[in-house]
Amino acid sequence: MAQRRPDRVRGPGHDEFWAWCDKGELRLQRCASCGRIPWPIVQKCEYCGGSELVWEPMSGRAKIVSGCTFEYDYYKGMLPIPYETILVELEEGALFISNPVDLTWRDIEIDMPVKLTFLDCEDSAGAFKLPVFEKA
Ligand SMILES: [Zn+2]
Repeated sequence: MAQRRPDRVRGPGHDEFWAWCDKGELRLQRCASCGRIPWPIVQKCEYCGGSELVWEPMSGRAKIVSGCTFEYDYYKGMLPIPYETILVELEEGALFISNPVDLTWRDIEIDMPVKLTFLDCEDSAGAFKLPVFEKA
């Protein structure tokens, strides 16, 4: 059963991101001018101002660089509390906030290798696939 989530941000860039996720691919924008990966989604490169951004597939390999347990419902209705949130560094360098799958704060260690998977979710716009991470 799909997990209910708050509404996603939609619009230019965001729609392409979610369309790739629905195909089971995590793709981020790589700047054709400077080669860096601005993230979160931009309309122009935050490093050089370049406007040619290419949707590049990420390997799905990452490591945990931080994490915390939300025990208070700061983001109303995000998930039933308590829930885990992790910051991972993708192999390609971008920092990505996500939820771990089958890992609690007891399991999470800094530099722990994790791999991408997708969770079936839904918001008011319908079903979508959310990029999350599990132990590699
Ligand atoms: Zn750039």
